Amino acid sequence: MKNDINWNFDNTYSRLPEAFSEKINPVKVKDPKLILFNETLAQNLNLNFSELNQSELSALFTGNELPKNSNSIAQAYAGHQFGHFTMLGDGRAVLIGEHLSQNNRYDIQFKGSGKTAFSRNGDGRAALGPMLREYIISEAMHALNISTTRSLAVAKTGENVIRETTLEGAILTRVASSHIRVGTFQYIAARNKKDELETLFKYVIKRHYPEIESSRNKALDLLKSVLEKQIDLVVNWMRVGFIHGVMNTDNMSIAGETIDYGPCAFMDIYDPKTVFSSIDKLGRYAYCNQPIITKWNLSRFAECLIPLIDKDHDKAVKLATEMIDTFEIKYEEKWLSMMRNKLGLLGTEEKDKSLILDLLTWMHQNKVDYTNTFCHLMNLKIKEDNIYKNNDFINWKKRWKERSLSHNNSEEKHKKLMKSVNPLIIPRNHIVENTLKEANQGNLKPLNNFLKILNNPYNEQANISKYQVSSNPSENYQTFCGT
Ligand code: AMP
Ligand code: MG
Repeated sequence: MKNDINWNFDNTYSRLPEAFSEKINPVKVKDPKLILFNETLAQNLNLNFSELNQSELSALFTGNELPKNSNSIAQAYAGHQFGHFTMLGDGRAVLIGEHLSQNNRYDIQFKGSGKTAFSRNGDGRAALGPMLREYIISEAMHALNISTTRSLAVAKTGENVIRETTLEGAILTRVASSHIRVGTFQYIAARNKKDELETLFKYVIKRHYPEIESSRNKALDLLKSVLEKQIDLVVNWMRVGFIHGVMNTDNMSIAGETIDYGPCAFMDIYDPKTVFSSIDKLGRYAYCNQPIITKWNLSRFAECLIPLIDKDHDKAVKLATEMIDTFEIKYEEKWLSMMRNKLGLLGTEEKDKSLILDLLTWMHQNKVDYTNTFCHLMNLKIKEDNIYKNNDFINWKKRWKERSLSHNNSEEKHKKLMKSVNPLIIPRNHIVENTLKEANQGNLKPLNNFLKILNNPYNEQANISKYQVSSNPSENYQTFCGT
């Protein structure tokens, strides 16, 4: 393998105690073929693949040829899946190493790379459609300014995977600040070895939260930092109508990135109870439950930290509980602030909450598109919709206009604020599905066009109206796990 790509590996996680991971290489694939490559991300990582030809790139992005100084591992972790504790681990992924670039450390991981010690009954593989879907949605999230893992490449394996039907296999190259999850702490905590827990704890502080190195109670401050990161994240999800779909504790990143794009999807028509995941029968991970579940997951994280918070167990529980109980107030504050931004309001007023809730209730009762309503409020030319001539809405708008003028707001400030947080474009379900259908038939053009448009969600672009049409709710969109 050519070395001039500029890989700069320093694989600290693989040097942690044996129990943390399995040393394993990706399983070689039959006929590698690169089909998507993220040039911009490669440049951000200071990587240069321009000297490689197609077959070398394909071998690289399937793991058939590993870069020098990589050191592949499958990470061990546990997790609460729909509330039930399970031992998990990377069953179909390997971390090939940590790449250093401009003082940042990036995990480079292959997803769909074959069986590991943690595969249980799975085949260790992934199908092309779901890997392309992760690429589309994670890159869309990044462009929406939401903290997320990224996608560097998708390559076909030339092998079939058997799901409900026979599908083409593929590998996604995922880039993350790390793949340490709440579930990683749960796995180590369950092993009941204090030295291992301390090792993970120190590692995480050094890697992700060095600012608390000098704290008096580092464990409590770690809990606080992760709690605040997760609140920021979920508030951002709520902002754009993103539904993660499988917020198990193994899918919650300690670094605060959106991770594990399985059954996730965006809400079109505003309905707080929206669920897309076929297995989420009770709506545990519905749009409106995301903050509550975030708090639930953080409580599981807090439990792992108890022995590190205080030697006195009862005192540690008390401190952790008090910290977890700050969630509601902090969330409410950040959510209100986000919604004020969406409405272009400056300052804070007592009546803001009812103004916001009245708009959401109106959208819900009238089955109106969430994203497009904010576009309408920004006076953007989206397809004429008679719903906005509704009297209740017009009356609401009068209240909103009046409130918008307060706190020395100007037309310019108001517009600029709204523009910075209200996307014109989200990855709408029917478009995602259509582009994937085309891609599965070998036509990548619609997918590449779509990626370009998703890359610039806050600005007007030519010919985007077809991407702004709400999905038809009667089509009952469903998404799936473990694909
Ligand atoms: P997820 O629903 O993607 O968070 O996956 C939950 C667990 O199942 C993780 O430990 C995955 O590694 C594992 N898993 C998912 N799909 C497969 C597969 N095809 N083969 C092996 N393990 C898998
Ligand atoms: Mg997962």
